Amino acid sequence: MHEMSLCEGIVQVLQQEAERQSFHKVNRVRLEIGALAGVELSALRFGFDVVSRGTLAEGAALEIIEQPATAWCLMCMRPVTIQQRYDPCPECGAYQLQVTEGEELKIKDLEVE
Ligand SMILES: [Zn+2]
Repeated sequence: MHEMSLCEGIVQVLQQEAERQSFHKVNRVRLEIGALAGVELSALRFGFDVVSRGTLAEGAALEIIEQPATAWCLMCMRPVTIQQRYDPCPECGAYQLQVTEGEELKIKDLEVE
């Protein structure tokens, strides 16, 4: 389950930030996740609970902001919004799409004390 290793990465970042900015507890983490990041949100929440146990992020609220995916349609010659990878263009139905956004997962901000 790659959500588990994602969560390990997130907690690592939190610990590094805690040292850098000298906070000792994380109350809330806001994540931005692209629609194409391939992340199962329930697995991510579960993983975060498990991985953060015994760390400064234990009990922190995980807030997830889902970002729509954007692709460039080679037929329409403009960007379109897609729900999933390999979706056809919602405008013209073509499959000549190049994904431009939607694969990212990043920590947007933190609430700490
Ligand atoms: Zn199109």
